[in-house]
Amino acid sequence: MKKILVSACFLGANVRYDGVVKALDHQRLLKWRKEGRLISVCPEVAGGLPTPRAPAELQPKSSLIVDNLGVDVTNAFLHGAKHALQLCRMHGIKYALLKEYSPSCGSEQIYDGSFNQQKINGMGVTARLLKENDITVYSELTLGELIKIVD
Ligand code: SF4
Repeated sequence: MKKILVSACFLGANVRYDGVVKALDHQRLLKWRKEGRLISVCPEVAGGLPTPRAPAELQPKSSLIVDNLGVDVTNAFLHGAKHALQLCRMHGIKYALLKEYSPSCGSEQIYDGSFNQQKINGMGVTARLLKENDITVYSELTLGELIKIVD
């Protein structure tokens, strides 16, 4: 049975930067969870950041991740990304379902670094590291494609 790495916030864990619990409500996710196929991770918490925490965005020019107080949190984000990759290796995972737009988990779009709610094409650091290691990353927007592959 194929296992799937999943953003912990999709499973209702209180890990989001704003401390708001927002589970992804989908029957297939519940089924996979019951079957023990989901490996949960929040890369930012795994990297040592607290909940709640200041929102952070990737700065496209420097490739650093900086929060809205000006603190460079790049190392914590990278540490969390490596932890997510380790989990994939440990469980033989080839597919991930990660939250779109996050500076860690976004797989197609992220915020542009201005903290003005502007999105650009790009990947979060965890999604990028997984992709570089042949793990296909899906989001809540492409869950249907993942369902077709993982029965
Ligand atoms: Fe969810 Fe990923 Fe953000 Fe953690 S880092 S709260 S798992 S989107």
